[in-house]
Amino acid sequence: MISVTIFNEFCHEKFDEKVKAIYPEGIHKTIASFLETEEDITVRTVTLDDEECGLTQDVLDSTDVLLWWGHLRHGDVPDHVAHRVKDAVQSGMGFIALHSAHHSKPFKLLMGTTCNLSWREDDDKERIWVVNPTHPIAQGIDSYFELEGEEMYSEPFGIPEPDQLVFIGWYEGGEVFRSGCCYQRDNGKIFYFQPGHESFPTYHNPSVQTVIKNAIRWAAPMKKIRLDCPHVQKLTYGVPGSHRRG
Ligand code: ZN
Repeated sequence: MISVTIFNEFCHEKFDEKVKAIYPEGIHKTIASFLETEEDITVRTVTLDDEECGLTQDVLDSTDVLLWWGHLRHGDVPDHVAHRVKDAVQSGMGFIALHSAHHSKPFKLLMGTTCNLSWREDDDKERIWVVNPTHPIAQGIDSYFELEGEEMYSEPFGIPEPDQLVFIGWYEGGEVFRSGCCYQRDNGKIFYFQPGHESFPTYHNPSVQTVIKNAIRWAAPMKKIRLDCPHVQKLTYGVPGSHRRG
C-alpha cells in the first residue's frame, strides 16, 4: 500500500463562495475522494491550521508520498516544518507540488531557485501536451487533454532544469509552460503539476485525476534511506589483518 498524505492550506474554500461551491469540503477532501477508491492507496489529509500543519515527524515517517496545495498562506508554514518536509523528501518520501505550491516553502527549498513565473486569471483554456509518452506519469493520457478554464502560468519558470519533463501546457492567450516536471533530490522523487487553480473544477477532471494517481505511484519510494556522510575504511579481502589486495 502507498501511504499518501495531502496537505492543503484550506483557506480559499472557507471564505470564497465560488471556491466553496466547487470544493465544499476543501480541495484536500476532493483529491482524497478520488484516491480512496484506489486499492493500493491509503489517504490522510492535514491542513495548515492543524498543530505543526499536521506534519509531525511521525506523520512524515509514515508517509510515502506527500501532496501539497497552498497559495495565500505559504508564509504561515513554519520554517522548521518546511525543513522537516525537505529532509523527509531527501530521505525518500515522494513529494507532489500542486499548482501554486510552486511557491511553497518545501518546494523552494528543494529547488533552490525563485520558482517565479508569469500568471493571469482570465478563464484561459489550457491544452496540456504529453511530451514524454513513455513516462509512467503520462500513462492513460492521449496526446493531450484540455481544461476549459485554468489560471495561466507561463515561462520563464524559475526552476532548475527538470530531470524529466512530462507535460507542456499551452494557453489560448498564446503562452506555454512546463506543466509537469520531475526531479530527484537525494533519494526522493518530486513532481510539480501546474493545473489546480482554486476557482476552476480542475481536480474533478478525470485526466487530472489520472495524472495525480500516476504521479503518486511513480514517486512512491522503494525504501527510505537518509544519506549520511560517514568516514569509512578501505574495503579489504580475506581475513582482517591479512595483506590487502585490489
Ligand atoms: Zn492559482
